[in-house]
Amino acid sequence: MDNPQEVAGPPLLDVVNVSKRFVVRGSRQSVTWRRHLTAVDGVSFSLRAGEITALVGESGSGKSTVARMLSRLETPSGGYVNLHGERVRFGVPGGRRAYLRQVQLIFQDPFASLNPVHTVRYHLERPLRVHQHLRSQQDVERGVAALLEEVHLTPPSRFIDCYPHQLSGGQRQRVAIARALAVGPKVVLADEPVSMLDVSIRLGVLNLLAQLVEERGLALMYITHDIASARYFAATTHVMYSGQLIESGPSEDVTQSPRHPYTQLLLESSPDPTRSRKRIPLSALEVAHGNIGTGCRFQPRCPYAMPRCAEEASPRQAVGGTHWAACWLLAPVPADGQ
Ligand code: SF4
Repeated sequence: MDNPQEVAGPPLLDVVNVSKRFVVRGSRQSVTWRRHLTAVDGVSFSLRAGEITALVGESGSGKSTVARMLSRLETPSGGYVNLHGERVRFGVPGGRRAYLRQVQLIFQDPFASLNPVHTVRYHLERPLRVHQHLRSQQDVERGVAALLEEVHLTPPSRFIDCYPHQLSGGQRQRVAIARALAVGPKVVLADEPVSMLDVSIRLGVLNLLAQLVEERGLALMYITHDIASARYFAATTHVMYSGQLIESGPSEDVTQSPRHPYTQLLLESSPDPTRSRKRIPLSALEVAHGNIGTGCRFQPRCPYAMPRCAEEASPRQAVGGTHWAACWLLAPVPADGQ
């Protein structure tokens, strides 16, 4: 993938300081309680045409909530999103369909995202009629066949009348991708698109997505817990922990020279046959929830934590080029050494 600094053009989707808070209610021994859970806190990034951007983090880090907000399944509690430079008006009736024509979400589980009582033909015909305004049956048939060929389900006649349960996991995900393409999007949000597929077919689906990005000039956000795949697949990688971006930059830099302790742990815990270091216990990677306070959110688990880390969170510290990490270890040492 290209270095993001070499990719020209303004962002298609600009996410600025977006946050999401949920109200959590419960009761215990006749006492009811209510508190706020901050799932996403001040997240900013851009998606550009022809570029793959990875959003990496463990379960509960908030990355799927980001995808749900960008696909308008949730309304942000703060911040804003621009699409083609225009402010997206969340929570306001109207405009949602036009937005979703530009921004499509591919879900993790292709079986759940396809209707089991309808054929492949049905799933692809509907968006072609509604969004591409194809009217004649002949045009629709041609459109469905072209989509199936584009996602390498060939010959189309072999798949067009199949129901989801008659397809393999990889084939179902290719149908889900074809359905997203049928709308004609400019931005695709792929939420763990291969994590439910057999390892043997994951690479084929990732290569297909990369090919579509190149051929259609899509802006693709690849959401994953697998930082190793981000290195090979995405130009830019953002690492998320406990609702915040904690490191970001060109994928090669972030994965080869990780600067935030959490990114380092994430990489060490990912399978890599070429690495002989000990694997980090998963408990060290668990995401902190609840009352987080003002300090660094990784502080309770960080092997390098200092007193300062509990008092205030580090701002973004530039590492080089567009690479940054939010960690006090990277802060410049004051001239007096204090
Ligand atoms: Fe660890 Fe402190 Fe850096 Fe947070 S700011 S990651 S606690 S060293």
